Amino acid sequence: MRLEEAGKEMSTGKAPESAPETGGLIVSHFGVAVEVLFGGGERRMVRVKRNSGHVVGDRVRVAGEVLERLPRQTELRRRDARGSVHLVAANLDVLGIVLAPGSPSGFADRAIVAARAAGLKPFLVCNKCDLPEARALASEVAGTYAGSLSTFALSAASGEGIEDLRGFLREGHRGAFVGSTGVGKSSLLNALCPEINLKVGELSDHRWLGKHTTTVSSLHTVPGGGELVDTPGFRDFGLVDISSEEVVEYFPGFESLEENGCRFHNCRHRSEPGCAVTELVERGELAADRYRCYLDILAEAEAAEDAAARRPRKK
Ligand code: GDP
Ligand code: ZN
Repeated sequence: MRLEEAGKEMSTGKAPESAPETGGLIVSHFGVAVEVLFGGGERRMVRVKRNSGHVVGDRVRVAGEVLERLPRQTELRRRDARGSVHLVAANLDVLGIVLAPGSPSGFADRAIVAARAAGLKPFLVCNKCDLPEARALASEVAGTYAGSLSTFALSAASGEGIEDLRGFLREGHRGAFVGSTGVGKSSLLNALCPEINLKVGELSDHRWLGKHTTTVSSLHTVPGGGELVDTPGFRDFGLVDISSEEVVEYFPGFESLEENGCRFHNCRHRSEPGCAVTELVERGELAADRYRCYLDILAEAEAAEDAAARRPRKK
């Protein structure tokens, strides 16, 4: 869906021609104000409290300076270095997991589980394919994940392979990129959305913001179709509130188990008899390091659940 249409969708019924539009989409967040895009293409700044809870991608109704948030389809959260959880964006439907040589091992598996648990469809991007080691990584990644999700091999620097990703985004997706520092997320955003740099400069002249305000996050149209959220500071993507059931259900590579399942329907794929996953590992169809990664993620989720169960309940 294009940004303008998204805003239009929110308009309330058939207002008289002269009535101001009330339904829109938050496209930029500056901490103390948000920019709302209305159906007709009009943009307006609305002040918000610092911790108002509004995020980019939120659909809102605006009455004067009051924002009413409409229910969200999805929420993307992250955990910061101190362990606090932050909402990053709302109503995304895809998450691009960016890899490059040197990406931490297990990053893709964790991010895929986290995306699926949040209701977002993950896809993988191997960047820096102008470099031979990145091309090698990309073919390894394609071999491992092709049965589970879309993968793209590209170079933000040279532009090769970017058209395939554009084609995917053009299907009407709204997404964001995650990946460790240095994999090329910013370069990729700039290559896909040339308006990004321009726009931030224009908006920081707004009277409430002052010259040196930077956006907390913003939503950009990809020329040709699709939208991407830019969230400076959103780097590593810790697992946030993922249940152990979700790990078992969403770990990439377990899709084939639907037909040839384990003996026990609630199998956690550790040492249960008749486990189809340990058979996959024995046959070499699931790499041992990825299986270890699965066990680590599962143990982490279970430990978080145990800790939560031990905490006294709030009255
Ligand atoms: P971020 O931390 O994920 O946002 O990464 P950046 O976009 O800042 O890029 C990190 C570094 O990788 C920079 O020095 C970029 O110039 C470089 N880089 C980004 N994309 C590519 C690419 O496709 N090929 C190569 N060779 N370098 C790239
Ligand atoms: Zn099993």
